[in-house]
Order: sequence, then C-alpha cells, then structure tokens
Amino acid sequence: HFPVRDVHHHLVSSLMEISAHAGAIVVTIDGPAGAGKSTVAKTLAQRLGFDYLDTGAMYRAVALLARRHNLLEDAERLSMHLDTAALEITGGLVRLNGEDVTGLLRDPEVTRGSSLVAAIPAVRAFLVRAQRQAAQGRSIICEGRDQGTVVFPGALCKFFLTAHPRERARRRLEDMARQGKELPALDDLERQIAERDERDATRQDSPMVPAADACLVDTTSMTLEQVMDHLAV
Ligand code: C5P
Repeated sequence: HFPVRDVHHHLVSSLMEISAHAGAIVVTIDGPAGAGKSTVAKTLAQRLGFDYLDTGAMYRAVALLARRHNLLEDAERLSMHLDTAALEITGGLVRLNGEDVTGLLRDPEVTRGSSLVAAIPAVRAFLVRAQRQAAQGRSIICEGRDQGTVVFPGALCKFFLTAHPRERARRRLEDMARQGKELPALDDLERQIAERDERDATRQDSPMVPAADACLVDTTSMTLEQVMDHLAV
C-alpha cells in the first residue's frame, strides 16, 4: 500500500519513463468549463516536463475571427476564411494571422461564440488537424472536450473532469475577480456555463462525452492537490 502521494509520484515517473523510451506520448484532459482542466493540465505538464495544448483557445480564436468578419451565422463563408487563416499557439500565446489575440479570447462574447463555431464540422476538422500537428513528435497534455474521444483516441492516459455547475460558476467568478475583471452575477454565470455545456454535449459532431477508457474525476469538493493525487489512482 502506497500513500496516495507516492502513487502519484509513480504515475508521474512512469509517464516520464515511457516518454523517454517511446518518444512521444499524449495525455488527454476533457470535461466542461470550470471543472479544473486548465489548472490540472498545466500542473501535470509542468511536473512531467511535457508540452501543454489548450484546444479551447483555438476554438476561441476561430470565434474571434468569425465575430470580426460577422460570420457567426455563416458556416460556409467562415470555413472559406479558415482556408487562408494562420493560427499559431505557442507558450500560452495565440496568434491569428500574425496578431497576438491572447488577451481577447476570454471576452464573454467570444466565449459564447466559441461553442457556436465548435458545432461547425469544417471548423472542427480544421482544428483537429492543427491539434494533431501540434502534438506530432512530442509528449503533450491536451485539454479540451474531444481530445480523448476524437482527436487522440489512442492516447495513453485519459481523464475526464467534472464538477457541479454551481461550483464551476463559483470558480470562474473567482478567476475573474483575481484578474480584476468586472463581475457578473453568479446566477448569470451559472446559466451561461449551463448553456455552453448543453451545446457542447448535444452537438452532432464530436459532442463532449467521456471516452470509454477515460478516468472520471468529480472535482466539486477537491483542491488542486487532491485532484492531482486522485489522477494517479
Ligand atoms: O475550454 P474552453 O472553455 O476555452 O473552450 C471554449 C469552447 O470551445 C467550448 O465551450 C467548446 O464549445 C469548444 N471546444 C470544443 N472542443 C475542444 C475544446 C473546446 O468544442 N476540444
């Protein structure tokens, strides 16, 4: 019997060892907004020395592009724009056609738009290609909604994080407060999150669903360290 912390240490060192021998391995972390995916993915990436890919930021960048060209309602013309769009994501910065758009991606309208464009098959095909390319030849933690199911079905290690919607809204509000943003009412935030979850879970193309072989973790009453420990079990 190992103490949980030792088990986690074992998972981390096993993944590092496999990565050192096999070259590149993928760990996927999927789940709804506010379940703790980003924090966990970044922490795990740091501990493992792996890269980290925030695929939500890619959908947000496409939403920004769509809004700027007034194409949120026009899937066909948006797809044409994507043919010539250059999307780069490196070291936490997102560049769209050469412009650093990182600071614009958390805007509430872009957030809402992200789950609208995410339902368009051509957008998904474009980003799935970019995500597989980004993971090519490196060990990486990929965070999103479909990483374990569609993008990397053969990933070595898959997690699906959830939490009660109220708690997820509360965490988002805390994030926003930390960043000195204007704060919406908790009820409104919870409703917006629920709307996005509903769209993400019910779309035809790649709905948000845990992979059959994913480890499910309900983070509602867990701290980050508890989640990190749990991932190893
Ligand atoms: O994770 P984040 O909240 O930044 O994602 C924004 C939106 O992008 C999600 O609500 C979802 O509609 C979409 N998304 C997706 N597939 C992913 C990542 C994000 O559909 N792999």
